[in-house]
Amino acid sequence: MRGRQLVENLSVRYISTRGKAPVLAFDDVLLSGLARDGGLYVPRVCPRLSKAYIRSLRSLSYTEIAVRVMHPFLSDRISETDFADMAADAYAQFDHPAVAPLKQVGPDHWVMELFHGPTLSFKDYALQLVGRLFDHVLKKRGEKVTIVGATSGDTGSAAIEACRDRECIEIFILHPKGRVSEVQRRQMTTVMSRNVHNIAVEGTFDDCQDLVKGMFNDIPFRDRYNLSAVNSINWARIMAQVAYYFAAGVRVGAPYQSLEFAVPTGNFGNVYSGYVARKMGLPIRQFIVASNTNDILTRFFDTGTMRKTEVVPTLSPSMDIQISSNFERLLFDYSGRNGRRLTETMETFRTSGEFTVNTGRWRRMRRLFTGEHLDDAATKAAIRRFYQATGEMFDPHSVIGVAAGAALHEPGPALISLATAHPAKFPDAVREATGVRPALPPRLADLLERPERCTVLPARIDKIKDFIHDSLLEHAA
Ligand SMILES: *Cc1c(COP(=O)(O)O)cnc(C)c1O
Repeated sequence: MRGRQLVENLSVRYISTRGKAPVLAFDDVLLSGLARDGGLYVPRVCPRLSKAYIRSLRSLSYTEIAVRVMHPFLSDRISETDFADMAADAYAQFDHPAVAPLKQVGPDHWVMELFHGPTLSFKDYALQLVGRLFDHVLKKRGEKVTIVGATSGDTGSAAIEACRDRECIEIFILHPKGRVSEVQRRQMTTVMSRNVHNIAVEGTFDDCQDLVKGMFNDIPFRDRYNLSAVNSINWARIMAQVAYYFAAGVRVGAPYQSLEFAVPTGNFGNVYSGYVARKMGLPIRQFIVASNTNDILTRFFDTGTMRKTEVVPTLSPSMDIQISSNFERLLFDYSGRNGRRLTETMETFRTSGEFTVNTGRWRRMRRLFTGEHLDDAATKAAIRRFYQATGEMFDPHSVIGVAAGAALHEPGPALISLATAHPAKFPDAVREATGVRPALPPRLADLLERPERCTVLPARIDKIKDFIHDSLLEHAA
């Protein structure tokens, strides 16, 4: 394939949005997560796929598309055969033959179901692959890592499923005791692998996050146990999500058909992956950024000002976020990739909780991004409306994208809304809206009967560190 050769010759290097961290290759970016200057890594030059190359994806499976789309980002560090093996293994864990199936819900409106992975949220699509990439790179280097993270729900279970039984990884996930749903808790605590450690912290999600931050800021502790993270700012997660934008696009006629994507948004990781797909050549005309009452992003696209407020709990907890960390990557491009200027903007935001971009820049962003938000009442009404009209049940996150998409769609491009969680993950809200309680898929049907394993600890960093130390010793023995 001629188009293929063209992209394979490029060795992608990664630079920090703040401009002061070392330039790295893919494997170092994977393991380091955040850049040393506090910025986020992005490709120095984004690979571009020709029309012919994109057309050639149309006859391929999800896994094959994923390999073709992602391999240019790491081609000089991981061979195509090794990478294809990891992708095949990762996407074999999904329980739908299409991996990410499309369903038509309107004349030119499709929903892409991104909830057929082991933990029923779109986070599996990236994390299943990232866990395998970590293990591959670590094994080659003869290293091990200890992954530590805090979760309010979806991320923890997806990370645990991605890291379980991996030889070079131990994973510790902190969740606030009694403050995650039963399904979410059990998806974490019923995993019996020896390298998985659940900690129920007697405190809030913020306490969990502070404890994790405290461990990362303790340099001797961090170095001794080689602490690492798989949070949403990791470039590899962004990269893995680019694949489903291409998979959806070619199914509805790209590269010849233009596209519009509606995306339920929290940390802006998912939307940013779509933006990368567009940079690579997928003909996306517009992104509809959808949020709940925590609408900092949709207000930004309306006004050009990013202003932080208090987080309000909603029916869609994975979008209850006030600082969308991945937005920095977009801002980097729209500020002429000027790391110094971006550092100033982010510093202003950190100290004052607010920044404004100049009118020219905001207008350019408005050409590609538009926003819409739904409060809880509108969310429930939308679940009911789509259920009555199409028979499809959407969870409270997915429906926000679907409804925003339907409201803002303009004729021309094909509209694809991303469904980010399975309705059975949030059964109460769905039942209240439709009168029907959504059932868990067969492989999780006995989730509520499985034995659990979890350690309860007070919100004290010395206790958490002791537990990590003892568990690692015990596992090594
Ligand atoms: C994490 C999550 C989101 C938000 O995605 P971002 O990439 O952070 O914008 C939306 N829906 C669900 C179900 C999630 O788990």
